[in-house]
Amino acid sequence: MSDHEVIVIGGGISGLMSAMTLSKHEKEVLVLEKSSRIGGNCNSYDVEGFQVDTGVHAISHLLVGPMRRIMDLYFDYVPVFMDLGPYYIRTHRGLTKVPSNLREFAFFDVLPKKDRILLSQTITIAFTQSTLGTNLKNQSVYNFIPKGLSQDSLDFIDALCYSLSGRSMKETSVHRILTGSSFMRDSVPENFWEDEVVDTSYKALLTDHFSMSQLKGHLSVLSRLANNEIGMSQKYPRKGLKAILNSVLYSMSDKVKITTSCKATSIITDNGTVKGVVTENGTYTADMIVYTGFVKDLPSLVTDLGQSYVQDLKDIVQTHSMTIWLGLDTKMSELNYIGSEIWFKPRAYWAMPISNYDQELAPPGKQLVGFTFIVDESVPLVEDKKRMYK
Ligand SMILES: Cc1cc2nc3c(=O)[nH]c(=O)nc-3n(C[C@H](O)[C@H](O)[C@H](O)COP(=O)(O)OP(=O)(O)OC[C@H]3O[C@@H](n4cnc5c(N)ncnc54)[C@H](O)[C@@H]3O)c2cc1C
Repeated sequence: MSDHEVIVIGGGISGLMSAMTLSKHEKEVLVLEKSSRIGGNCNSYDVEGFQVDTGVHAISHLLVGPMRRIMDLYFDYVPVFMDLGPYYIRTHRGLTKVPSNLREFAFFDVLPKKDRILLSQTITIAFTQSTLGTNLKNQSVYNFIPKGLSQDSLDFIDALCYSLSGRSMKETSVHRILTGSSFMRDSVPENFWEDEVVDTSYKALLTDHFSMSQLKGHLSVLSRLANNEIGMSQKYPRKGLKAILNSVLYSMSDKVKITTSCKATSIITDNGTVKGVVTENGTYTADMIVYTGFVKDLPSLVTDLGQSYVQDLKDIVQTHSMTIWLGLDTKMSELNYIGSEIWFKPRAYWAMPISNYDQELAPPGKQLVGFTFIVDESVPLVEDKKRMYK
């Protein structure tokens, strides 16, 4: 008989939500967390009276995504989510809203008119193809956009890619842009595509595979070209990121035990079946093991993973980001808005006056602003930090 029904490796938000969910199905769960704190990347910390999150966050897919489903089914306490507000571009004229749909795109005079026309056509093609079943996950944004765009437009597209995937437009898929901008809502019910074998040619799909009702459904999805709203399913939790962590902890049943400062060093298997976890503090046996650490580290814990899976893991590219939080003694009128701004010159970064969502995140009269940068791996970090502070 095992020591535990389930061991969850990792006490970040995924591990804790897994433990909470399993405990509500009467499972007895042990969570092993290597650091001295739980929460991983989903937490907030007090710094001289300011409450800073682990990076600037916009919680997405809150309408019908997995997070929504788990909250509805298992949370006893649900965080209060506030509208994220628009994304802006700051120019010498002030703030301009990042366009969400073709109509707004037509008036987005931050970019030259010719580029806007070309890009409107590109967005229409990409969204139509994707809606009708063409897989754009392996299609890079760089290869998809028209040639001859101005440098401003290329920098703008690059900045959007960095803010969504952490990578340049050469390494970001068209699918990622469509889902990140709410055009494609990849959180549709799981069975959405199930009954269709999808072809890469949507012309073939139209004639051979679609029923009229499906076609009507797709056409109604296509109306998003006219009325899409980028931030429609994105929110910020009142009282900061730790409000999500606290909701999970308050919803946890007493069938969950959490052990911190306990690093799992290997997962014991026998003929492909998990048996237990070796840690720096001892060995625990279990009938089920849920691993929520960084997936690239998994082969160092389990020896008998399939070859092709191990190869897939090696191909995952990791991006490092850095957030600088500024605690301002007085509020800046330039930052008097709800939302965030994307800068695309000289390199992409993202800024968010976070205390505008909730004044309690900063001492009275003060303001908290987060600036998130993608670390440039081609230069030493000390050099790159100078660029970020500047
Ligand atoms: C700067 C930044 C901005 C982000 N912005 C957004 C956003 O805007 N919207 C959004 O939805 N998401 C955002 N995210 C992502 C979100 O924060 C993460 O997806 C989420 O917090 C990941 O949770 P996790 O539990 O999967 O992983 P982690 O938070 O990484 O937790 C994994 C835990 O496992 C522990 N662990 C690992 N290995 C072991 C081991 N061998 N033994 C024991 N413990 C182990 C780690 O210590 C850690 O606590 C952002 C993340 C960052 C860093």
